[in-house]
Amino acid sequence: MRERDARRRCGEGERKGEFVTYIITEPCKGVKDASCVEVCPVDCIHSDEGQEMYFIDPDECIDCGACESVCPVNAIFYEEDTPEEWKEYLAINADYFKK
Ligand code: SF4
Ligand code: SF4
Repeated sequence: MRERDARRRCGEGERKGEFVTYIITEPCKGVKDASCVEVCPVDCIHSDEGQEMYFIDPDECIDCGACESVCPVNAIFYEEDTPEEWKEYLAINADYFKK
């Protein structure tokens, strides 16, 4: 069990978007081929016509990693492994689902 799940079970961190898991970053922009959407078992990767990329809902993602391996441009990272230059996408993914 990841630490995030343990914290959830303890009732901590209930603010939406606080616990980001896997996230989508800049390389998705302009590609947006939806390979990740097809393999996600919980249908938590979304976008819309006005967006250049897809986003992962941090409240629904179960950390399975299936999306990461199918992305043709390596745009998906586990939170802790996200390159420094793309750390801002942690908030960008979560914010998309606060609309
Ligand atoms: S890690 Fe799994 S659950 Fe989370 S977005 Fe990727 S495919 Fe979906
Ligand atoms: S597989 Fe990669 S490039 Fe394709 S939509 Fe998902 S994150 Fe974007």
